[in-house]
Amino acid sequence: MYVIHKERFDVERRLFAFCFTCEHCAHFDDRLLICIHGFPNRQHRLSYYEATPRPPEIVFCKDFDLA
Ligand code: SF4
Repeated sequence: MYVIHKERFDVERRLFAFCFTCEHCAHFDDRLLICIHGFPNRQHRLSYYEATPRPPEIVFCKDFDLA
């Protein structure tokens, strides 16, 4: 699910330590850096947001399961 990126989101996700990327998901293989369901996850990784400080959209995965 894509939502428009707003700078307030970045402020609040850091302030509240919001977990929403694959690295915090139980379905993420942190050895192979892939989603075990085979979902494309390049835009849903923390590294993407670190490399793209002003992404046009934020990606939320409906299958995210907090690890
Ligand atoms: S289920 Fe979604 S959040 Fe979890 S690893 Fe796969 S793509 Fe990422």
